[in-house]
Amino acid sequence: MRFAQTIAVVTGAGSGIGRSVAFRLASEGAKVILVGRTRQKLEQTAETINGKSRIPMAEIFTADCTDGEDVSELAEYVQQHYGDLHVLVNNAGGSRNTRILEMSETEWDEVQSVNLKSVFLVSKALGKIMVEGAKREEGNRAIVNVASLSGHQAGAEIPHYSAAKAGVINFTRSLALELAPYGIRVNSVSPGFVDTPLTAHGLKNDRFVKAIQRNTALRRVGNPDEIANVIAFASSPEASYMTGSDLLVDGGWLIK
Ligand code: NAP
Repeated sequence: MRFAQTIAVVTGAGSGIGRSVAFRLASEGAKVILVGRTRQKLEQTAETINGKSRIPMAEIFTADCTDGEDVSELAEYVQQHYGDLHVLVNNAGGSRNTRILEMSETEWDEVQSVNLKSVFLVSKALGKIMVEGAKREEGNRAIVNVASLSGHQAGAEIPHYSAAKAGVINFTRSLALELAPYGIRVNSVSPGFVDTPLTAHGLKNDRFVKAIQRNTALRRVGNPDEIANVIAFASSPEASYMTGSDLLVDGGWLIK
């Protein structure tokens, strides 16, 4: 039970990697606040978590993490209901395929907003609560930002997403420096190809799947639990000397 007495916020917890992270944190004792834009998806995550436990371990808060007002309301909710926060997983994100010369300014802004600005907004608002908590009592406090393999390499089909995720990796380092004096650790996790609603369309294409297998040392696509395990590690006291790091979980794509 690495997360006993832990209050955690997971953004994008209604599906994919975020849902797996919420399951893992709750199964190890955390009270988890599930954040996303679609209530129904969050309710499904919460029902599964709460159905497995004697006391409810999950609750939902609908918010658009790119919207400063929504994020302020989330912070107020956490402050009023818990007065502290120990773990924040900035997981909300996504993209679509468009090349640079075909891309509209709006699409560029949207992808920066959901993948990078959201990490800034949520980290700032909830980071303040974590800092105040850390001043009152010592203990494990961690932020984990979900970046991407794409943040480590060029992405001809997803240049906006690659740029934003590279930004997440470096934003993580800056935030790690700022919060280190309070003992709050900040790391990022960079998944490779993982089977989630984000990639579902592409993974229906046999040629695409074969190309991933060919280019991945472990010769397969990952599953969300394999990413959640690493995010849980980075969030836990086991990673007590790790901050400002990026953990690449790509099945050996980059070494090929
Ligand atoms: P997913 O199932 O589509 O999950 C993304 C979640 O983020 C959704 O539940 C979505 O729910 C939420 N979300 C999107 N925009 C939001 C916003 N503005 N505010 C709040 N929530 C928002 O995809 P996933 O693959 O699990 O992605 C999770 C993270 O992993 C993302 O950051 C993604 O970039 C990263 N990643 C994924 C892969 C992969 O292969 N799957 C690889 C590398 C990195 P709502 O639409 O209901 O808000």
